[in-house]
Amino acid sequence: MTNATSTAQAARDDLADFQGRLIGPDDPDFEDARAVYNAMIDKRPALIARCADAHDVARAIAFARANDLPLAVRGGGHNGAGLGTCDDGVVIDLSGLKEIDVDPHARTVRVGGGCTWGEVDLATHAHGLATPSGIISTTGVGGLTLGGGLGHLTRKYGLAIDNLLEAEVVLADGRCVRTSADERPDLFWAIRGGGGNFGVVTSFQFRLHEVGTVVGGPTFWDIDQSAEVLSAYREFLPAAPRELNGFFAFCTVPPAPPFPEPLHLRKVCGVVWCHVGSEEDAAQAMAPLLDALPEPLLHGVQSMPHPALQSAFDGLYPAGDQWYWRADFVNDIPDDAVELHARFGAEMPTMKSTMHLYPIDGAAHDVDASDTAWSYRDARWAAVFAGVDPDPANVAEIRTWSVDYSDALHPYSAGGAYVNMMMDEGRERVRASYRDNYDRLARLKAIYDPDNTFRINQNIEPERPS
Ligand SMILES: Cc1cc2nc3c(=O)[nH]c(=O)nc-3n(C[C@H](O)[C@H](O)[C@H](O)COP(=O)(O)OP(=O)(O)OC[C@H]3O[C@@H](n4cnc5c(N)ncnc54)[C@H](O)[C@@H]3O)c2cc1C
Repeated sequence: MTNATSTAQAARDDLADFQGRLIGPDDPDFEDARAVYNAMIDKRPALIARCADAHDVARAIAFARANDLPLAVRGGGHNGAGLGTCDDGVVIDLSGLKEIDVDPHARTVRVGGGCTWGEVDLATHAHGLATPSGIISTTGVGGLTLGGGLGHLTRKYGLAIDNLLEAEVVLADGRCVRTSADERPDLFWAIRGGGGNFGVVTSFQFRLHEVGTVVGGPTFWDIDQSAEVLSAYREFLPAAPRELNGFFAFCTVPPAPPFPEPLHLRKVCGVVWCHVGSEEDAAQAMAPLLDALPEPLLHGVQSMPHPALQSAFDGLYPAGDQWYWRADFVNDIPDDAVELHARFGAEMPTMKSTMHLYPIDGAAHDVDASDTAWSYRDARWAAVFAGVDPDPANVAEIRTWSVDYSDALHPYSAGGAYVNMMMDEGRERVRASYRDNYDRLARLKAIYDPDNTFRINQNIEPERPS
């Protein structure tokens, strides 16, 4: 094959029984089909295989392997590093796999590998149920879950992977297998945190919990009060009941309702809350922090349906912005780190740039570090430093802020980072993020994907026999 168009044509010839769509650069909707969430990622695949079922996935894998082409797998397309696409290779696009089947009696939901969390939240909410995911509804179930899954319900119900019961996976050799605690438990261990390294998940089954209405929203203080607020928060959060999740944030108040006009475009620090329970219990749980601090600029906390909280950031962060991510796990936030946070928070370069500290304690700590591939069970927070802006002209500025900020805080980190919030940062960084679990992952990779067919991810290289 000589170029991308001939690759797409060869696929159309070879994959005559493909049920989905084979999209090449010669298709009128190729530009839309190749776009991912982070506009900084500008890749041109030779073929986008929009699969209709697991059989299509197996055929697309075989085509990529037979033609020695790079292979990327795309769930929701949200990955900051752009790991859901590639240049000059095959993208397996799972956006056609949208099955959602709620069993309210068994309290489970079966979800197609191409669903977004918003789609799942709406379906489960109809039964007053939910499973832990993230903090934004447009993120893909696939990437978020396979990397771990941190969000509003983490302290109460654990990571997304802690609620995964079963998955159907297409392996590198084309076999479609099921995995759970009882079936291929080694594969089940590996996909709970090991990302897309072990195969393409076409279907997930999650445990559901009784979560209908939550008490959520932000409390903001002025950016000049950052050191005082963060110092109080670091003591408060670990002692708070599990029903209360609250991630610390630096942000700029968006210039739109429901935020009061005098606060528009003001840099603030604060906590974004999610309490599973009554308004009264929520107020009681938040009181130790609120009582210890000066009156906030805004306490915008109220009862709302769980999907409303999950989609609260959607308007602020549509697809198509430029994103530069850095991340680190954090155990403690000593005074020197607090001072650095306060400095960099005040220097946020654009309205959408932000820093979040996502809590990892509570139910996430009930699982042992070696029970799943996700090793940092003893960390207390996952820090993310995200430079964000719609204007490509500001890429250097947001990147510099994010890198300088994370470099300054890295000495106070636990070492590794949450793989879902890293850019392409090299092999050692991936190894550090899996710590003691890395060697077992590399051995399983050698069993399930010995040729490293699935390598466009935070890659775990197959362990070669010595
Ligand atoms: C605005 C925003 C908010 C976010 N908030 C959170 C949050 O609250 N909590 C959190 O934990 N993370 C969060 N993330 C990070 C998110 O988890 C990662 O970006 C994740 O990779 C996105 O998954 P995706 O399926 O959308 O991405 P994609 O770009 O489609 O895929 C990402 C990676 O996962 C692999 N993959 C995806 N689906 C499958 C599948 N079905 N089978 C095999 N491999 C697959 C891909 O090959 C790729 O390596 C957020 C990201 C963004 C951009």
